[in-house]
Amino acid sequence: MPDEKARVYANRQRAYGLFGRDTDTVVHAHLVHDISVAAVTQTNNGTWLPRVDGLITNEPGCAITMNYADCGPIFLYDPVHHAIGLGHAGWQGAVKDLPGAMVRAMQAQFGSDPAQLIAGLGPSIGPCCYEVGEPVITAVHNAFADPDSRLIPQSSSLKPHFDLPEANRRNLARAGVRHIEQSGLCTACRTDLFYSHRAEKGKTGRFGAIFILNE
Ligand SMILES: [Zn+2]
Repeated sequence: MPDEKARVYANRQRAYGLFGRDTDTVVHAHLVHDISVAAVTQTNNGTWLPRVDGLITNEPGCAITMNYADCGPIFLYDPVHHAIGLGHAGWQGAVKDLPGAMVRAMQAQFGSDPAQLIAGLGPSIGPCCYEVGEPVITAVHNAFADPDSRLIPQSSSLKPHFDLPEANRRNLARAGVRHIEQSGLCTACRTDLFYSHRAEKGKTGRFGAIFILNE
């Protein structure tokens, strides 16, 4: 049974309220595991940007938010041009290079220099828990020059584990980002802290990221 809608809205309200916001004063995204990135302002408040997995803004006070359960949250901050980006990349976003698309969108929109960006990778499913088969294995082989460093063989199983945070880190590095911090937390190991689609077999919630440039 999914959670009741009223409860979901109440919980969202509570989370946004921690930042003095509500549903109408944050910008949302309809996530589709692809690489479209949208530049937004507060005129987008209360709306769900269709089919995007990256939101960027250089408007102080503009709050961008996304929901996660195993996929990787990606945070980018440009301290020189004062701009931020928030992204969502699971294996599909990783092989299609959503992190790189975010960097390039910030370059194009705000003149960001990738070498000056500060990146953070939030909690996602880790290499300890992310057993994968096809089509992930082939997609990873096609996307990375050294796929074996991202597909870790397991002695107990024929199926390898995918290192999603390392793949997202590698995408950022490939786009020229030098400062990258990783949470090191696995959402499937730490269901005491996070929701995990994989560990909880689809019946789970989402945890949210809210990213705001100070005014
Ligand atoms: Zn784990």
